[in-house]
Amino acid sequence: MPVNVLFAGRPDRWAEYQPLLDAALTREGVAANLSTDIPPAEVDYIVYAPNGPISDFTPYTRTKAVLSLWAGVEKIVGNESLTQPLTRMVDDGLRRGMVEWVTGHVLRHHLGMDAHIVNPDHDWNPGAPPLAPDRPVTILGLGTLGTACAKTLVALGFPVTGWSRSAKDVPGIRCLSGDDGLDASLHDAQIVVLLLPQTPETENTLNARRLALLPEGAVILNPGRGPLIDDDALLAALDSGHIGHATLDTFRVEPLPADHPYWSHPRVTVTPHIASDTRASTAADVIAENIRRSESGQPLLHVVDRDLGY
Ligand code: NAP
Repeated sequence: MPVNVLFAGRPDRWAEYQPLLDAALTREGVAANLSTDIPPAEVDYIVYAPNGPISDFTPYTRTKAVLSLWAGVEKIVGNESLTQPLTRMVDDGLRRGMVEWVTGHVLRHHLGMDAHIVNPDHDWNPGAPPLAPDRPVTILGLGTLGTACAKTLVALGFPVTGWSRSAKDVPGIRCLSGDDGLDASLHDAQIVVLLLPQTPETENTLNARRLALLPEGAVILNPGRGPLIDDDALLAALDSGHIGHATLDTFRVEPLPADHPYWSHPRVTVTPHIASDTRASTAADVIAENIRRSESGQPLLHVVDRDLGY
């Protein structure tokens, strides 16, 4: 008996996902009826995205799991109509994309590339940048994406500190946790990367007090989520020059409103939530593997802890 898999991602992604999900389910040995149109009471699995058509899960009475195509689950984790297990996306494409975005923007600021890309005075004596071992980087959030970025930066020679909720031991990375660990992780951080999930606990992680702990001229990269930063505090710290630059990919309101001060601030770079996208070519395998696991009685991978919110 085939399982019924409802694709409830962004409708315009269906044409791309359909053949890839079909092939991945076949490879996993799962007989499936994959469609965007299945009566709710007959759906076994929902492939979900917040920009897809479902917000009320109540009619999906026989659904065994909701499989999110997004890594961040803040838009669904508090949905009271969702009683089924929820998994989030952990895939190679998402990981590679984030490593590339973070590494690129760390190197931009580390090397001071802007001074050479726009150099109207033809300045010939700006001095060489320090080497990576002299540029401490802190990554807030040492999960799938934060750890992958940390390992790449360590391989380039940067001294990397990572901060997480639970204590960790990752070779080559100074691992800290807890409130004291957060303060300690900021004291010498010349570049800070935010890769925390958006939860009630992580809101305003970078507030005025913690921004003040950073060394003068520190750079902030936020590919995590907008609410991780107190925007007013960041703008004040940018205005004073205490924070040298912020490269922001995520915002409290997206798209970032046209009149938001971030667009015009000379010390801010806005990227439009493109740090890393789920790639259908790799995500299809993750979805299919989880359906196969569920059908064969194995635990689902990447299950969201509804209490923790990520
Ligand atoms: P993850 O594997 O769940 O890792 C989250 C990390 O944050 C973990 O290390 C976790 O600690 C830590 N954390 C959570 N709550 C904390 C708290 N209260 N205090 C300290 N640390 C805390 O998530 P991921 O896959 O790496 O993704 C991280 C985030 O990136 C996503 O939630 C999403 O918001 C964002 N993202 C953005 C884009 C983009 O294009 N901009 C793309 C993908 C993802 P533990 O290890 O102790 O659990």
